[in-house]
Amino acid sequence: MSVYVTGHKNPDTDSVTAAIAYAELMKAQGEDAIPSMQGEMNPETVVVLERFGVAAPEIMTDATGKQIALVDHSDLNQAPDNLSADSVVAIVDHHKIGDVTTNQPIFCCVQPVGCTGTVLKQLYDIAGVAVDTKVAGLMLAAILSDTVNFKSPTCTDADKKAVAELKEIAGVTDTDELFMAMLKAKSSVDGVPARDLLNRDYKDFDMNGNKVGCGQLELATLDQVAAIRDDLLAAMKEQKAEGGHHTILLMLTDVVKEGTELVVVSDDPSLVEGAFDSKLDGTSMWIPGMMSRKKQTVPNMQKAFGC
Ligand code: MG
Ligand code: MG
Ligand code: MG
Repeated sequence: MSVYVTGHKNPDTDSVTAAIAYAELMKAQGEDAIPSMQGEMNPETVVVLERFGVAAPEIMTDATGKQIALVDHSDLNQAPDNLSADSVVAIVDHHKIGDVTTNQPIFCCVQPVGCTGTVLKQLYDIAGVAVDTKVAGLMLAAILSDTVNFKSPTCTDADKKAVAELKEIAGVTDTDELFMAMLKAKSSVDGVPARDLLNRDYKDFDMNGNKVGCGQLELATLDQVAAIRDDLLAAMKEQKAEGGHHTILLMLTDVVKEGTELVVVSDDPSLVEGAFDSKLDGTSMWIPGMMSRKKQTVPNMQKAFGC
C-alpha cells in the first residue's frame, strides 16, 4: 500500500517540498510513497518548483483508507480529513507536538529547528542516501522561507548547516538572490482578493476552548498593503463571523524592518494587548522583532488564554 506524504492545510513551501523530499527518501529506502499536498500551491512555492524544475505533487485532502506520513505538522485540524489513528505511519516535523495520535508505534522525528527541510536533511544523512540535486534546491528554498533567510528566531545552527550543505548539492551560489525571488513572489498582493491574502498562510488554533485564527503576510515593505488595509480588516471580520472565532490575527510582517504590524479582530482586544504587552492603535499595533507565528505570536496568545 502506498504511503501518501503530506504537509498541512494551506500548504506553504516547506509543506510541499518536505512532502516531495520525504517521499523521495522513503522510495530510496524501498517504500512506496506518493508526495501530496492539501490544496493549491502559494505563489512562492510555484516559483520554487519552477526554478528547480520539479512537478507539483497531487492534491490529496481525504485520508480515508490511506496510509499517511505527515510532514510539517501533527495537528488534526491541519491534517487531511478523516485521518484515523490507524492511518498515520510517520511524522517528520519542527513544530510543537499536536494532537494526532496513533494505534501503533510509528516513525516520528520532530526537532526544534527552523524547518522540516532541515530535519529531512539529517534523515537523509542518517540513512546514507544522497539528496537529489533538484530536491536539494527545494529543501534549501524551504529553509530560507521558513527561517526568513535566517532572520526568524526559529532559525538554528542546524538550519544554517543544512543550507550550507544543500546549496552545494543544488549548485546554488547566491541564496540571498533565491530568497528575494521567493519574497517577491510571496509578497505580491496585486489583484489578490483580501480573503485570499488572509488565508495565504493562515492557521486556526484551539486555545482553551477558544478558536483563534492567525494569518501572516511576509512583505518587503508595509506599503505593499497600505491601500488594502480596510479590505483585509473586512475579510478578517467576515471570516471571524463565519468561523465563530474568539480572535483572528493577521501578521503583516516587514521582513526588511524585522517587525510585525499585528491586525486584531477579537471578542476581547485587551487580552490580545496583554499578550503582547502593547497597545492597539485602532485595530493594529506594531511589534518590533516579531517575525514568527510559531515562536512568538502563538505562544504569547496561548499564555494569555491560560493554556
Ligand atoms: Mg509550514
Ligand atoms: Mg515548516
Ligand atoms: Mg511558514
